[in-house]
Amino acid sequence: MNALTADQLPVVVIGAGPIGLAAAAHLVERGIEPLVLETGPTAGSAVREWSHVRLFSTWGELIDPAAEKLLAPTGWVRPDASTYPTGGDWAERHLQPLADVLGDKVRYGATVTGVARAGRDRIVDSGRDEQPFTVHVETSDGREERITARAVIDASGTWSVPSPMGADGLPALGEKTAADRIAYRVPNLSDPAVRARYAGKRTAVVGSGASAFTALALLADLAKENDGTHAVWILRRGISDNTYGGGEADQLPARGALGLRAKAAVEAGHASAVTGFRSQAVERDGDRLVIVAEDGRRLDPVDEVIVLTGFRPDLSFLSELRLGLDERLQAPTALAPLIDPNLHSCGTVYPHGVNELSHPEQGVYLVGMKSYGRAPTFLAMTGYEQVRSITASLAGDQEAAERVELTLPETGVCGGAGLFDEPENAEESGGGCCAAPTTLQIGVGAPASTSGGC
Ligand SMILES: Cc1cc2nc3c(=O)[nH]c(=O)nc-3n(C[C@H](O)[C@H](O)[C@H](O)COP(=O)(O)OP(=O)(O)OC[C@H]3O[C@@H](n4cnc5c(N)ncnc54)[C@H](O)[C@@H]3O)c2cc1C
Repeated sequence: MNALTADQLPVVVIGAGPIGLAAAAHLVERGIEPLVLETGPTAGSAVREWSHVRLFSTWGELIDPAAEKLLAPTGWVRPDASTYPTGGDWAERHLQPLADVLGDKVRYGATVTGVARAGRDRIVDSGRDEQPFTVHVETSDGREERITARAVIDASGTWSVPSPMGADGLPALGEKTAADRIAYRVPNLSDPAVRARYAGKRTAVVGSGASAFTALALLADLAKENDGTHAVWILRRGISDNTYGGGEADQLPARGALGLRAKAAVEAGHASAVTGFRSQAVERDGDRLVIVAEDGRRLDPVDEVIVLTGFRPDLSFLSELRLGLDERLQAPTALAPLIDPNLHSCGTVYPHGVNELSHPEQGVYLVGMKSYGRAPTFLAMTGYEQVRSITASLAGDQEAAERVELTLPETGVCGGAGLFDEPENAEESGGGCCAAPTTLQIGVGAPASTSGGC
Protein backbone atom coordinates (compact mmCIF):
# COMPACT_ATOMS: atom_id res chain seq x y z
CA MET A 1 0.00 0.00 0.00
CA ASN A 2 1.68 3.28 -1.00
CA ALA A 3 1.61 6.29 1.33
CA LEU A 4 -0.86 8.28 -0.78
CA THR A 5 -3.35 5.42 -0.85
CA ALA A 6 -2.97 4.83 2.85
CA ASP A 7 -3.67 8.47 3.62
CA GLN A 8 -6.85 8.38 1.59
CA LEU A 9 -8.27 5.36 3.34
CA PRO A 10 -10.20 5.65 6.58
CA VAL A 11 -9.34 3.96 9.82
CA VAL A 12 -12.32 1.71 10.49
CA VAL A 13 -13.47 1.65 14.10
CA ILE A 14 -15.78 -1.24 15.01
CA GLY A 15 -18.44 -0.17 17.51
CA ALA A 16 -19.89 3.20 18.56
CA GLY A 17 -19.54 2.49 22.26
CA PRO A 18 -17.59 4.77 24.62
CA ILE A 19 -14.19 3.58 23.46
CA GLY A 20 -14.94 3.41 19.73
CA LEU A 21 -16.31 6.94 19.76
CA ALA A 22 -13.33 8.16 21.78
CA ALA A 23 -11.05 6.53 19.18
CA ALA A 24 -12.88 8.45 16.45
CA ALA A 25 -12.47 11.71 18.39
CA HIS A 26 -8.72 11.12 18.75
CA LEU A 27 -8.42 10.28 15.04
CA VAL A 28 -10.20 13.51 14.10
CA GLU A 29 -7.88 15.43 16.43
CA ARG A 30 -4.94 13.84 14.59
CA GLY A 31 -6.36 14.69 11.16
CA ILE A 32 -7.07 11.05 10.28
CA GLU A 33 -10.42 10.07 8.77
CA PRO A 34 -12.36 7.62 10.97
CA LEU A 35 -15.30 5.49 9.92
CA VAL A 36 -17.20 4.04 12.87
CA LEU A 37 -19.37 1.01 12.08
CA GLU A 38 -22.04 0.27 14.67
CA THR A 39 -24.37 -2.71 14.54
CA GLY A 40 -27.09 -1.05 16.65
CA PRO A 41 -29.40 1.83 15.73
CA THR A 42 -27.78 4.38 18.09
CA ALA A 43 -24.55 5.36 19.75
CA GLY A 44 -23.84 3.31 22.87
CA SER A 45 -26.23 0.55 21.81
CA ALA A 46 -24.69 -1.93 24.28
CA VAL A 47 -24.57 0.64 27.10
CA ARG A 48 -28.26 1.39 26.54
CA GLU A 49 -29.04 -2.26 27.23
CA TRP A 50 -27.93 -1.67 30.80
CA SER A 51 -29.35 1.83 30.97
CA HIS A 52 -30.90 1.09 34.39
CA VAL A 53 -27.53 0.32 36.02
CA ARG A 54 -25.80 3.16 37.84
CA LEU A 55 -22.07 3.29 37.14
CA PHE A 56 -19.56 3.22 39.95
CA SER A 57 -17.43 5.76 38.08
CA THR A 58 -18.22 9.45 38.19
CA TRP A 59 -18.89 11.54 35.09
CA GLY A 60 -15.38 12.92 35.54
CA GLU A 61 -13.98 9.43 34.87
CA LEU A 62 -16.21 8.69 31.90
CA ILE A 63 -15.48 11.50 29.45
CA ASP A 64 -12.52 11.28 27.14
CA PRO A 65 -10.53 14.54 26.75
CA ALA A 66 -10.47 14.47 22.93
CA ALA A 67 -14.22 13.80 22.89
CA GLU A 68 -14.79 16.74 25.19
CA LYS A 69 -12.76 19.02 22.91
CA LEU A 70 -14.87 17.97 19.94
CA LEU A 71 -18.09 18.60 21.85
CA ALA A 72 -17.13 21.91 23.44
CA PRO A 73 -17.91 24.19 20.44
CA THR A 74 -21.40 22.66 20.07
CA GLY A 75 -22.64 24.13 23.34
CA TRP A 76 -22.62 20.70 24.97
CA VAL A 77 -22.90 21.00 28.74
CA ARG A 78 -20.50 18.78 30.66
CA PRO A 79 -22.36 16.92 33.41
CA ASP A 80 -21.25 17.53 37.00
CA ALA A 81 -17.96 15.60 37.23
CA SER A 82 -18.62 14.35 40.75
CA THR A 83 -21.96 12.64 40.07
CA TYR A 84 -22.67 9.08 38.96
CA PRO A 85 -24.62 8.50 35.74
CA THR A 86 -26.64 5.44 34.80
CA GLY A 87 -25.83 3.63 31.57
CA GLY A 88 -28.78 5.48 30.03
CA ASP A 89 -27.37 8.85 31.11
CA TRP A 90 -23.95 7.98 29.67
CA ALA A 91 -25.47 7.10 26.30
CA GLU A 92 -27.89 10.01 26.07
CA ARG A 93 -25.89 12.84 27.58
CA HIS A 94 -22.45 12.00 26.22
CA LEU A 95 -22.19 9.19 23.66
CA GLN A 96 -25.05 10.24 21.39
CA PRO A 97 -24.04 13.94 21.31
CA LEU A 98 -20.48 12.84 20.50
CA ALA A 99 -21.65 10.59 17.69
CA ASP A 100 -23.85 13.41 16.39
CA VAL A 101 -20.82 15.72 16.14
CA LEU A 102 -18.98 13.00 14.23
CA GLY A 103 -21.92 12.97 11.81
CA ASP A 104 -21.52 10.68 8.80
CA LYS A 105 -18.28 9.34 10.22
CA VAL A 106 -20.57 7.05 12.26
CA ARG A 107 -22.79 4.52 10.46
CA TYR A 108 -25.54 2.64 12.29
CA GLY A 109 -27.06 -0.69 11.38
CA ALA A 110 -23.64 -1.75 10.05
CA THR A 111 -22.48 -5.08 11.47
CA VAL A 112 -18.88 -6.07 10.86
CA THR A 113 -18.85 -9.76 9.90
CA GLY A 114 -15.21 -10.10 8.86
CA VAL A 115 -11.86 -8.33 8.69
CA ALA A 116 -8.94 -9.49 6.52
CA ARG A 117 -5.99 -8.23 4.48
CA ALA A 118 -7.33 -7.45 1.01
CA GLY A 119 -6.79 -10.48 -1.20
CA ARG A 120 -4.71 -12.31 1.42
CA ASP A 121 -6.15 -14.97 3.67
CA ARG A 122 -4.52 -15.75 6.98
CA ILE A 123 -1.85 -18.07 5.60
CA VAL A 124 -0.51 -15.90 2.75
CA ASP A 125 2.75 -14.04 3.47
CA SER A 126 3.41 -12.58 0.05
CA GLY A 127 2.83 -8.80 -0.07
CA ARG A 128 0.73 -9.02 3.07
CA ASP A 129 1.97 -5.91 4.87
CA GLU A 130 1.43 -3.72 1.80
CA GLN A 131 -2.24 -4.65 1.51
CA PRO A 132 -4.95 -2.53 3.11
CA PHE A 133 -7.64 -4.18 5.21
CA THR A 134 -10.98 -5.22 3.83
CA VAL A 135 -13.89 -4.97 6.24
CA HIS A 136 -16.98 -7.06 5.51
CA VAL A 137 -20.21 -5.41 6.57
CA GLU A 138 -23.85 -6.46 6.65
CA THR A 139 -26.34 -3.62 6.87
CA SER A 140 -29.64 -3.64 8.70
CA ASP A 141 -31.48 -3.50 5.37
CA GLY A 142 -29.83 -6.74 4.28
CA ARG A 143 -27.04 -5.46 2.03
CA GLU A 144 -23.44 -6.69 2.02
CA GLU A 145 -20.57 -4.23 1.68
CA ARG A 146 -16.78 -4.26 1.57
CA ILE A 147 -14.92 -1.29 3.01
CA THR A 148 -11.20 -0.77 2.49
CA ALA A 149 -9.31 0.57 5.49
CA ARG A 150 -5.75 1.58 6.31
CA ALA A 151 -6.10 0.26 9.88
CA VAL A 152 -8.82 -1.32 12.03
CA ILE A 153 -9.59 -0.52 15.66
CA ASP A 154 -11.93 -3.14 17.09
CA ALA A 155 -13.92 -1.56 19.94
CA SER A 156 -16.85 -3.96 19.69
CA GLY A 157 -16.91 -4.81 23.39
CA THR A 158 -17.95 -8.13 24.91
CA TRP A 159 -21.56 -7.39 25.85
CA SER A 160 -23.03 -9.75 23.26
CA VAL A 161 -21.26 -12.85 24.63
CA PRO A 162 -22.06 -13.46 28.31
CA SER A 163 -20.35 -16.44 29.93
CA PRO A 164 -22.53 -19.43 30.72
CA MET A 165 -23.31 -20.97 34.10
CA GLY A 166 -21.28 -24.17 33.80
CA ALA A 167 -18.16 -24.21 35.97
CA ASP A 168 -16.16 -25.63 33.07
CA GLY A 169 -16.87 -22.50 31.01
CA LEU A 170 -19.42 -24.30 28.83
CA PRO A 171 -23.19 -24.33 29.31
CA ALA A 172 -24.30 -26.56 32.19
CA LEU A 173 -26.27 -29.65 31.22
CA GLY A 174 -29.83 -28.42 30.68
CA GLU A 175 -28.84 -24.71 30.74
CA LYS A 176 -29.90 -24.16 27.14
CA THR A 177 -33.28 -25.85 27.49
CA ALA A 178 -33.98 -23.86 30.67
CA ALA A 179 -33.28 -20.59 28.81
CA ASP A 180 -36.79 -19.26 29.49
CA ARG A 181 -35.92 -19.06 33.22
CA ILE A 182 -32.32 -17.92 32.98
CA ALA A 183 -31.18 -14.30 32.49
CA TYR A 184 -27.60 -13.19 31.82
CA ARG A 185 -27.96 -9.51 32.70
CA VAL A 186 -28.72 -7.42 35.81
CA PRO A 187 -32.54 -7.23 35.86
CA ASN A 188 -34.22 -3.88 35.38
CA LEU A 189 -36.64 -3.99 38.30
CA SER A 190 -38.14 -0.62 37.45
CA ASP A 191 -39.80 -2.38 34.49
CA PRO A 192 -43.11 -3.79 35.87
CA ALA A 193 -42.87 -6.97 33.77
CA VAL A 194 -39.34 -7.70 34.99
CA ARG A 195 -40.32 -6.84 38.55
CA ALA A 196 -43.21 -9.30 38.40
CA ARG A 197 -40.81 -11.99 37.17
CA TYR A 198 -38.75 -11.81 40.40
CA ALA A 199 -41.22 -10.51 43.02
CA GLY A 200 -42.08 -13.17 45.58
CA LYS A 201 -39.75 -15.61 43.83
CA ARG A 202 -36.69 -17.57 44.79
CA THR A 203 -33.87 -16.58 42.44
CA ALA A 204 -30.39 -18.06 42.10
CA VAL A 205 -27.68 -15.45 41.38
CA VAL A 206 -24.49 -17.00 39.96
CA GLY A 207 -21.30 -14.91 40.01
CA SER A 208 -19.15 -12.85 42.31
CA GLY A 209 -18.42 -9.51 40.63
CA ALA A 210 -19.99 -6.07 40.62
CA SER A 211 -22.98 -7.20 38.55
CA ALA A 212 -23.76 -10.04 40.98
CA PHE A 213 -23.50 -7.54 43.86
CA THR A 214 -25.89 -5.22 42.05
CA ALA A 215 -28.42 -8.01 41.42
CA LEU A 216 -28.28 -9.14 45.06
CA ALA A 217 -28.82 -5.58 46.27
CA LEU A 218 -31.77 -5.04 43.89
CA LEU A 219 -33.41 -8.33 44.89
CA ALA A 220 -32.94 -7.39 48.57
CA ASP A 221 -34.77 -4.10 47.93
CA LEU A 222 -37.54 -6.06 46.22
CA ALA A 223 -37.73 -8.47 49.17
CA LYS A 224 -38.46 -5.56 51.50
CA GLU A 225 -41.67 -4.93 49.54
CA ASN A 226 -42.60 -8.45 48.43
CA ASP A 227 -42.67 -11.32 50.90
CA GLY A 228 -41.15 -14.51 49.62
CA THR A 229 -38.55 -12.79 47.46
CA HIS A 230 -35.25 -14.47 48.21
CA ALA A 231 -31.88 -14.80 46.48
CA VAL A 232 -29.64 -17.86 46.55
CA TRP A 233 -26.15 -16.61 45.84
CA ILE A 234 -23.99 -19.25 44.17
CA LEU A 235 -20.22 -18.80 44.45
CA ARG A 236 -17.48 -21.13 43.34
CA ARG A 237 -15.18 -19.75 46.01
CA GLY A 238 -15.65 -19.63 49.75
CA ILE A 239 -16.56 -16.43 51.58
CA SER A 240 -13.62 -14.48 52.93
CA ASP A 241 -12.79 -10.89 53.88
CA ASN A 242 -12.32 -10.16 50.18
CA THR A 243 -15.57 -11.61 48.89
CA TYR A 244 -17.40 -8.31 48.95
CA GLY A 245 -14.62 -6.31 47.32
CA GLY A 246 -12.65 -3.52 48.91
CA GLY A 247 -15.55 -1.72 50.60
CA GLU A 248 -14.41 1.57 52.05
CA ALA A 249 -10.80 0.90 50.95
CA ASP A 250 -11.82 0.94 47.28
CA GLN A 251 -10.56 4.10 45.59
CA LEU A 252 -13.80 4.12 43.62
CA PRO A 253 -16.20 4.53 46.56
CA ALA A 254 -19.32 3.57 44.60
CA ARG A 255 -17.66 0.33 43.48
CA GLY A 256 -16.76 -0.47 47.09
CA ALA A 257 -20.32 0.34 48.19
CA LEU A 258 -21.76 -2.26 45.79
CA GLY A 259 -20.03 -5.05 47.71
CA LEU A 260 -21.23 -3.62 51.00
CA ARG A 261 -24.83 -3.62 49.73
CA ALA A 262 -24.49 -7.29 48.76
CA LYS A 263 -23.08 -8.04 52.21
CA ALA A 264 -26.03 -6.26 53.83
CA ALA A 265 -28.42 -8.36 51.70
CA VAL A 266 -26.84 -11.55 53.05
CA GLU A 267 -26.71 -10.29 56.64
CA ALA A 268 -30.37 -9.23 56.52
CA GLY A 269 -31.33 -12.72 55.34
CA HIS A 270 -32.56 -11.60 51.92
CA ALA A 271 -29.86 -13.70 50.25
CA SER A 272 -28.24 -16.93 51.32
CA ALA A 273 -24.79 -17.77 50.03
CA VAL A 274 -23.87 -21.22 48.77
CA THR A 275 -20.10 -21.50 48.56
CA GLY A 276 -17.69 -23.83 46.78
CA PHE A 277 -20.48 -24.68 44.35
CA ARG A 278 -19.45 -25.56 40.78
CA SER A 279 -22.60 -25.65 38.69
CA GLN A 280 -22.78 -28.65 36.39
CA ALA A 281 -26.45 -29.18 35.53
CA VAL A 282 -29.86 -27.53 35.62
CA GLU A 283 -32.85 -29.85 35.97
CA ARG A 284 -36.56 -29.12 35.72
CA ASP A 285 -38.63 -29.82 38.81
CA GLY A 286 -42.17 -29.05 37.74
CA ASP A 287 -42.22 -25.33 37.16
CA ARG A 288 -38.95 -24.74 38.98
CA LEU A 289 -35.26 -25.41 38.41
CA VAL A 290 -32.79 -27.44 40.45
CA ILE A 291 -29.12 -26.58 40.09
CA VAL A 292 -26.68 -29.44 40.57
CA ALA A 293 -22.98 -29.11 41.42
CA GLU A 294 -20.06 -31.16 40.18
CA ASP A 295 -19.78 -32.70 43.66
CA GLY A 296 -23.39 -33.91 43.47
CA ARG A 297 -24.93 -31.24 45.71
CA ARG A 298 -28.45 -30.26 44.67
CA LEU A 299 -29.91 -26.90 45.62
CA ASP A 300 -33.51 -26.49 46.71
CA PRO A 301 -35.59 -25.56 43.65
CA VAL A 302 -35.55 -21.95 42.43
CA ASP A 303 -37.98 -20.07 40.19
CA GLU A 304 -35.43 -18.04 38.28
CA VAL A 305 -31.67 -17.96 37.67
CA ILE A 306 -29.51 -14.91 36.95
CA VAL A 307 -26.05 -15.80 35.60
CA LEU A 308 -23.48 -12.98 36.00
CA THR A 309 -20.17 -14.71 35.39
CA GLY A 310 -18.57 -12.21 33.04
CA PHE A 311 -18.28 -11.76 29.30
CA ARG A 312 -16.08 -12.98 26.46
CA PRO A 313 -14.72 -11.43 23.28
CA ASP A 314 -16.28 -12.45 19.95
CA LEU A 315 -13.20 -13.26 17.87
CA SER A 316 -15.09 -15.01 15.07
CA PHE A 317 -14.99 -12.12 12.60
CA LEU A 318 -11.22 -11.69 13.08
CA SER A 319 -10.36 -15.25 12.07
CA GLU A 320 -8.38 -14.22 8.93
CA LEU A 321 -6.06 -11.93 10.90
CA ARG A 322 -2.85 -12.92 12.66
CA LEU A 323 -3.62 -11.95 16.23
CA GLY A 324 -1.35 -12.52 19.20
CA LEU A 325 -3.69 -13.48 22.02
CA ASP A 326 -3.04 -14.92 25.44
CA GLU A 327 -4.29 -18.48 25.70
CA ARG A 328 -6.10 -17.90 28.99
CA LEU A 329 -7.57 -14.42 28.84
CA GLN A 330 -7.90 -13.99 25.06
CA ALA A 331 -6.35 -10.55 25.54
CA PRO A 332 -3.35 -9.27 23.52
CA THR A 333 -0.29 -11.25 24.57
CA ALA A 334 1.68 -8.34 25.97
CA LEU A 335 -1.32 -6.90 27.83
CA ALA A 336 -2.48 -10.16 29.44
CA PRO A 337 0.21 -10.42 32.16
CA LEU A 338 -0.67 -6.89 33.28
CA ILE A 339 -4.35 -7.69 33.83
CA ASP A 340 -4.42 -11.41 34.60
CA PRO A 341 -6.57 -11.98 37.68
CA ASN A 342 -4.37 -14.98 38.47
CA LEU A 343 -1.50 -12.55 39.00
CA HIS A 344 -3.04 -9.19 39.85
CA SER A 345 -6.09 -8.93 42.00
CA CYS A 346 -5.76 -5.39 43.25
CA GLY A 347 -7.32 -3.83 40.21
CA THR A 348 -4.07 -2.02 39.55
CA VAL A 349 -3.30 -1.94 35.86
CA TYR A 350 0.03 -0.82 34.57
CA PRO A 351 0.39 1.74 31.82
CA HIS A 352 -0.29 0.30 28.44
CA GLY A 353 -0.87 1.54 24.93
CA VAL A 354 0.06 0.77 21.37
CA ASN A 355 3.03 -1.46 22.24
CA GLU A 356 0.99 -3.83 24.39
CA LEU A 357 -1.97 -3.69 22.00
CA SER A 358 -0.12 -4.51 18.77
CA HIS A 359 -0.39 -7.86 17.02
CA PRO A 360 1.73 -9.77 14.52
CA GLU A 361 -0.79 -8.32 12.02
CA GLN A 362 0.32 -4.69 11.91
CA GLY A 363 -2.45 -2.08 11.88
CA VAL A 364 -5.16 -3.97 13.76
CA TYR A 365 -5.95 -3.27 17.41
CA LEU A 366 -8.40 -4.65 19.94
CA VAL A 367 -9.33 -1.90 22.38
CA GLY A 368 -11.81 -1.17 25.15
CA MET A 369 -13.66 -3.94 26.96
CA LYS A 370 -12.67 -6.39 24.21
CA SER A 371 -8.95 -5.79 24.79
CA TYR A 372 -9.28 -7.30 28.26
CA GLY A 373 -10.63 -10.56 26.85
CA ARG A 374 -12.03 -12.37 29.87
CA ALA A 375 -10.28 -10.24 32.51
CA PRO A 376 -12.81 -8.49 34.73
CA THR A 377 -11.20 -5.18 35.63
CA PHE A 378 -11.68 -2.96 32.58
CA LEU A 379 -12.48 0.69 33.21
CA ALA A 380 -13.45 3.23 30.56
CA MET A 381 -10.52 5.47 31.44
CA THR A 382 -8.19 2.61 30.47
CA GLY A 383 -9.79 2.47 27.06
CA TYR A 384 -9.50 6.22 26.53
CA GLU A 385 -5.78 6.00 27.21
CA GLN A 386 -5.44 3.02 24.86
CA VAL A 387 -6.97 4.86 21.91
CA ARG A 388 -4.98 8.02 22.63
CA SER A 389 -1.78 6.02 22.32
CA ILE A 390 -2.86 4.02 19.26
CA THR A 391 -4.03 7.06 17.30
CA ALA A 392 -0.80 8.90 18.13
CA SER A 393 1.07 5.95 16.67
CA LEU A 394 -1.12 5.88 13.56
CA ALA A 395 -0.33 9.58 13.11
CA GLY A 396 3.38 8.80 13.31
CA ASP A 397 3.81 10.53 16.66
CA GLN A 398 5.73 7.73 18.39
CA GLU A 399 6.84 9.94 21.23
CA ALA A 400 3.21 10.59 22.25
CA ALA A 401 2.30 6.96 21.60
CA GLU A 402 4.96 5.71 24.02
CA ARG A 403 4.12 8.31 26.64
CA VAL A 404 1.30 6.30 28.15
CA GLU A 405 0.20 7.76 31.44
CA LEU A 406 -2.32 5.90 33.48
CA THR A 407 -3.01 5.00 37.05
CA LEU A 408 -6.20 3.21 37.87
CA PRO A 409 -7.96 3.44 41.19
CA GLU A 410 -7.31 0.37 43.29
CA THR A 411 -10.08 -1.82 44.61
CA GLY A 412 -8.62 -2.04 48.09
CA VAL A 413 -8.71 -5.80 47.66
CA CYS A 414 -6.02 -8.36 47.09
CA GLY A 415 -6.55 -12.04 46.60
CA GLY A 416 -9.02 -12.65 43.83
CA ALA A 417 -12.06 -10.75 45.02
CA GLY A 418 -14.79 -9.64 42.69
CA LEU A 419 -13.94 -6.42 40.95
CA PHE A 420 -16.21 -6.16 38.02
CA ASP A 421 -18.02 -9.07 36.38
CA GLU A 422 -15.78 -11.70 37.75
CA PRO A 423 -15.29 -14.74 35.54
CA GLU A 424 -16.04 -17.66 37.78
CA ASN A 425 -12.66 -19.17 37.06
CA ALA A 426 -10.91 -16.24 38.72
CA GLU A 427 -11.66 -17.43 42.19
CA GLU A 428 -8.72 -19.72 42.46
CA SER A 429 -6.38 -16.88 41.67
CA GLY A 430 -3.70 -16.56 44.23
CA GLY A 431 -3.83 -12.87 43.69
CA GLY A 432 -0.18 -12.50 44.51
CA CYS A 433 -0.73 -9.00 43.60
CA CYS A 434 0.78 -6.05 42.15
CA ALA A 435 4.48 -5.86 42.71
CA ALA A 436 5.15 -2.45 41.26
CA PRO A 437 6.98 -2.60 37.98
CA THR A 438 9.04 0.27 36.70
CA THR A 439 6.34 2.44 35.26
CA LEU A 440 5.32 5.98 35.18
CA GLN A 441 2.29 6.95 37.17
CA ILE A 442 0.31 10.02 36.39
CA GLY A 443 -3.06 9.88 37.99
CA VAL A 444 -6.44 9.81 36.43
CA GLY A 445 -8.22 10.49 39.68
CA ALA A 446 -5.91 8.43 41.83
CA PRO A 447 -2.76 8.98 43.84
CA ALA A 448 0.56 8.03 42.34
CA SER A 449 0.97 4.60 43.75
CA THR A 450 0.90 1.29 42.02
CA SER A 451 0.57 -1.27 44.68
CA GLY A 452 -0.43 0.46 47.85
CA GLY A 453 -2.60 -1.69 50.00
CA CYS A 454 -1.36 -4.92 48.54
C1 LIG B 1 -23.28 -3.15 33.76
C2 LIG B 1 -21.93 -2.53 33.52
C3 LIG B 1 -21.47 -1.51 34.35
C4 LIG B 1 -20.22 -0.92 34.13
N1 LIG B 1 -19.79 0.08 34.96
C5 LIG B 1 -18.60 0.68 34.73
C6 LIG B 1 -18.18 1.78 35.54
O1 LIG B 1 -18.84 2.19 36.48
N2 LIG B 1 -16.98 2.38 35.25
C7 LIG B 1 -16.21 1.97 34.19
O2 LIG B 1 -15.15 2.57 33.94
N3 LIG B 1 -16.57 0.92 33.43
C8 LIG B 1 -17.75 0.27 33.67
N4 LIG B 1 -18.13 -0.78 32.87
C9 LIG B 1 -17.14 -1.34 31.92
C10 LIG B 1 -16.96 -0.59 30.59
O3 LIG B 1 -16.51 0.73 30.78
C11 LIG B 1 -18.21 -0.58 29.76
O4 LIG B 1 -18.60 -1.89 29.49
C12 LIG B 1 -18.06 0.15 28.43
O5 LIG B 1 -19.30 0.21 27.84
C13 LIG B 1 -17.05 -0.52 27.49
O6 LIG B 1 -16.98 0.24 26.32
P1 LIG B 1 -16.59 -0.37 24.91
O7 LIG B 1 -16.70 0.77 23.95
O8 LIG B 1 -15.31 -1.10 25.01
O9 LIG B 1 -17.70 -1.49 24.60
P2 LIG B 1 -19.28 -1.38 24.45
O10 LIG B 1 -19.85 -0.32 25.28
O11 LIG B 1 -19.79 -2.77 24.63
O12 LIG B 1 -19.50 -0.93 22.94
C14 LIG B 1 -19.26 -1.80 21.86
C15 LIG B 1 -20.14 -1.37 20.68
O13 LIG B 1 -19.80 -2.19 19.55
C16 LIG B 1 -21.00 -2.59 18.90
N5 LIG B 1 -20.71 -3.84 18.18
C17 LIG B 1 -20.52 -5.07 18.70
N6 LIG B 1 -20.23 -5.95 17.75
C18 LIG B 1 -20.23 -5.26 16.57
C19 LIG B 1 -19.99 -5.63 15.22
N7 LIG B 1 -19.67 -6.89 14.85
N8 LIG B 1 -20.09 -4.68 14.25
C20 LIG B 1 -20.40 -3.39 14.58
N9 LIG B 1 -20.63 -3.00 15.86
C21 LIG B 1 -20.53 -3.92 16.84
C22 LIG B 1 -22.02 -2.73 20.04
O14 LIG B 1 -23.35 -2.63 19.56
C23 LIG B 1 -21.62 -1.58 20.95
O15 LIG B 1 -22.31 -0.38 20.66
C24 LIG B 1 -19.39 -1.37 33.06
C25 LIG B 1 -19.87 -2.41 32.23
C26 LIG B 1 -21.12 -2.97 32.44
C27 LIG B 1 -21.58 -4.07 31.54
